[in-house]
Amino acid sequence: MKPGALPVLPFPVYLLDVNEPSQAESWSPAHSADLYRIDDWGQGYFAVSPGGRLLIRPGGESEESIDLLEVVEGLRERDLSPPLLIRFSDILAHRLGTLREAFAGAIVENEYQGRYVAAYPIKVNQQRPVVEEVFRYGSAYDFGLEVGSKPELLAVMALTGGASDRLIVCNGFKDDGYIEAAMLAAKLGRKIVPIVEDLGELHLILKHARKHDVRPAIGVRVKLASQGAGRWKGSAGEKSKFGLFVSEILQMVELLSAHDMLDCMQLVHCHPGSQIHDIDRLKDAISELGHVYAELVRLGAPIEYVDVGGGLGVDYDGSRTSSDSSMNYTLEEYAREVVYRLGSVCDDRGVPHPTIVSESGRAISAFQSVLVFNVLGSSGPRTTYPDPFPIPGDFAGAGDVPQPIRDLIVAYEAVDYGRLVECYHDATRAREEALNLFNLGYLSLELRGLAEQLFWGTCARVQDRAGELEELPEELEPLEDILSETYFCNFSVFQSLPDAWAIDQVFPIMPIHRLNERPTHRAVLADVTCDSDGQISRFVDGRNTIDVHQIAPDSEYYMAAFLVGAYQEALGDLHNLFGDTHVVHVRLHEEGGWWIDETVEGDTAREVLGYLQYDAERLQPLLARDCEVAVREGRMTVAETRMLLRFYQAELNGYTYLEAD
Ligand code: PLP
Repeated sequence: MKPGALPVLPFPVYLLDVNEPSQAESWSPAHSADLYRIDDWGQGYFAVSPGGRLLIRPGGESEESIDLLEVVEGLRERDLSPPLLIRFSDILAHRLGTLREAFAGAIVENEYQGRYVAAYPIKVNQQRPVVEEVFRYGSAYDFGLEVGSKPELLAVMALTGGASDRLIVCNGFKDDGYIEAAMLAAKLGRKIVPIVEDLGELHLILKHARKHDVRPAIGVRVKLASQGAGRWKGSAGEKSKFGLFVSEILQMVELLSAHDMLDCMQLVHCHPGSQIHDIDRLKDAISELGHVYAELVRLGAPIEYVDVGGGLGVDYDGSRTSSDSSMNYTLEEYAREVVYRLGSVCDDRGVPHPTIVSESGRAISAFQSVLVFNVLGSSGPRTTYPDPFPIPGDFAGAGDVPQPIRDLIVAYEAVDYGRLVECYHDATRAREEALNLFNLGYLSLELRGLAEQLFWGTCARVQDRAGELEELPEELEPLEDILSETYFCNFSVFQSLPDAWAIDQVFPIMPIHRLNERPTHRAVLADVTCDSDGQISRFVDGRNTIDVHQIAPDSEYYMAAFLVGAYQEALGDLHNLFGDTHVVHVRLHEEGGWWIDETVEGDTAREVLGYLQYDAERLQPLLARDCEVAVREGRMTVAETRMLLRFYQAELNGYTYLEAD
């Protein structure tokens, strides 16, 4: 056959006939809970209802629960459509209580004489309602706050009135203004501790303390020799960006003594890195910090606080391993480790047990937030071929059918006789040959389409049959990827899950309803940005696709990403101008049910354009002028231009994400 004389199809191709295996029976909500590993990563905060819906249990494994779909539907009634970031304030409160209990238990167990307080690092989620809630719920335990910059301090200074006994720890690079703000806050009565990160900062502290006549509490961050742990292990160790070498700490002691201010040196601090996944890596850092503390006490500094920094992990994938998205210890083990190590160093060195401070951010903040999004559509092999494929018995008589297509038909049919690996290999080879023919101009587009359908059809039949085997042959492992669908989801990875893109962080993701139905498809989740990086293809079970239900026309399919309360909001960006999502604070009501505590509407198109110096007030007249030209030239009527301008105005004030009509 020559180019230009392409064969036509000998029989019709049936497209988009949906293939739905009849496996609905024998599937229960418990199967879904297992499949999505809720108990592994959920810490008791999430469960599946008998009706197959995702429940939020704000008090851990308590009775009270909130039906997430009910919240989403309730919000839609209030004109708040997905994507929605829902914060469950009771979970935040529960996290603070759990942290406190873990340390209280460890203190009793180790007969530790000091106290424990947390200082929540607001950079982890510095949204005003979150910081206010941490401060409010933390008051029962004297928990404080940590700031890492001057703007963070300015926010915290104002929010912490009437709480003179609660720590404010000031980390990060400090200029005159930052230090002066800290000194003024001290004068105002805040218990504020600037942490000296380099000796220049100490000189600024001395200058502003003198100027405002305050005797400040001062802390120091130690550059530990012990290497940090986890992905951010560079936060500790001698090459870390922050902190003083021991020789510099000795100069600090001298300088403070010379100013008769050694009694101001009240806190010693380290930060062994965030998301510490291996507890063994923590031990050395805590012991070393304990010895620095003991030595400073020996040198006459009345240190009251030993601050072990952040790093307490979150088991995002629930594997309890030392992988990057997990941790091989529990909160209780962490608390025991810190308390035991510090206690034993202090006992050995004969110094008092200090108050332990931890700057645990992720572990406090991650669980409270859930990002709910709707699936807009899907594409993929399983929805593009009919099953069974209608191959006429007399195809062999169609003399023009090229060999690769014949081979594909044979492979497709041979699945019935077993030999699955062979069928898959034959189909793969035949499809390659068909593609080569197409690229040389010897195969029509219709026959290429047929080859595609036959290949996917064969793969799907092989995969279905292989599901009956005890073990999947290695050769058939690629089938999962080949056959996966792409589910298009209404959110931006860059705005709402930036760590999934930037550092391959795994977040638990699952549907929030239909959990009493067996999911029949596997999919990669693509977001709405025009960026091929904007997709999720790593899930908690270590696979590249997630089990999902087939989306039904005319009804929404909702999924959610969990444990997104730490770092994601602060780091999110405006890729493709998708802005902040709506944020809603939901709480249990004393009289039962849930209620909305606070709503922050997401960015409008006008707002995101404004962030990038587009002035909507100037865009509109530009368009209006063009409309007048169109009217003059007879391309539009006045009524049409009025409609266009109204439409433009309404869209400027609308949500940046996709909305139903
Ligand atoms: N403290 C300091 C100084 C930090 O740099 C960080 C984060 O890296 C934290 C606390 C919070 O760490 P995490 O969220 O891992 O608890």
